[in-house]
Amino acid sequence: MAVPQRKKSKSKRNSRRAQHDKITLPHVSICPQCGADYLGHRACGECGWYRGRIAVNVDADTFDDFEDEAAA
Ligand SMILES: [Zn+2]
Repeated sequence: MAVPQRKKSKSKRNSRRAQHDKITLPHVSICPQCGADYLGHRACGECGWYRGRIAVNVDADTFDDFEDEAAA
């Protein structure tokens, strides 16, 4: 098995890790309904808007409240 001749320096190790172990910002979009920031492919946390309609009732305190309002 091939073995490295020398130990890599801390500088080499750190610059290698800096390439792909870095922290990136989340992909944030602006809600067309209310203008709040929201994460991509998720319903807006402020108004519940997703793909052209209200997908989540953000005013409901429990899931039961949401079901009642969806049925009405
Ligand atoms: Zn919104």
